[in-house]
Amino acid sequence: MAHTASLSQLQSPPWALVDGELVPYDDVRIHISAEALTRALSVFEGLKGYWNTAGDVFAVRTPRQHYDRLRRSAGLLHIPVGFSYDEFLAGLATLGEKLLVPDKDLWFRPTMYVTEGHWGEGTSATLVVTAFTQRTDDPDPMRLGVSTWRRAADVALPTRVKCSANYVGARLARIEAKRLGYDDAVLLNDAGRVAEVTGACILIADNKGRVISPPASEGCLDSITVQVLEEVCEDLGFTLERRPIERTELLTATECGVAGTISELTLVEEIDGYTFRQDGRLALIRQRYLEVMRGKATLPGSPVVPLLERSSLPG
Ligand code: PMP
Repeated sequence: MAHTASLSQLQSPPWALVDGELVPYDDVRIHISAEALTRALSVFEGLKGYWNTAGDVFAVRTPRQHYDRLRRSAGLLHIPVGFSYDEFLAGLATLGEKLLVPDKDLWFRPTMYVTEGHWGEGTSATLVVTAFTQRTDDPDPMRLGVSTWRRAADVALPTRVKCSANYVGARLARIEAKRLGYDDAVLLNDAGRVAEVTGACILIADNKGRVISPPASEGCLDSITVQVLEEVCEDLGFTLERRPIERTELLTATECGVAGTISELTLVEEIDGYTFRQDGRLALIRQRYLEVMRGKATLPGSPVVPLLERSSLPG
């Protein structure tokens, strides 16, 4: 069965938001000649919102950081951004109000599709926000394989920005991993060191309890979750080191986990037959991270921003 921790749980929701307006999900259209299709020109984000422990307030993790990264992704690809942070946040609330249910969290995917323009001239994009409910139960630990596909070099395809084109190689790696019976694939960078998995970053802990994750210059996305986890670690009294990880260091680590907005911090039990502990430092970090997401603890640099109240939902 597909492992859902690193995968978005997609549905066919009734509504999407197109340039700030609610549109029936099945009616969202894009023209065949849009550069979004002809040159894979779209940039996107994935944000997650959580119900607090009392179940009366729904709040989104670090929306400002996601908005800023979306702007950076669009800016690098010369796609103009015509909406403010406040408009972005208001859009999430409008869609959330339609799609939220009491016992599930919600994952938002705002995507800027290039709908007008040609080779960088006259470019404009449509912002479509879709959202999908997410289960709240704990995921099983994952089994990974190191892929024969690699993360593209930054000079071939910009790695730090979240553009759809970056997922062509990741998709091949995930198909390969599934064929071999794994939940997901580890992608190495062009120098053969650890980059990330197909939709999340990698963290390891060694036998001295040091927690390490590669920096974006190693070919992983500039993960907002890893930044939050840096603060969680600091709060717990230790440091998350950002430095390169070689393949053998990964395979001989004491613990391994994957970190991302959807994955949160999901533990890894095996990579290519090498096994890891699951009851150590990363489990502790995961627990603390979820406490922050559910409003039981706060971190100044990683705000979980209230968006809707249960009492404001229909029914
Ligand atoms: N790497 C890739 C390729 C991803 O798609 C994601 C998910 N956005 C991540 C890493 C983790 O990034 P973040 O923590 O910002 O979700």
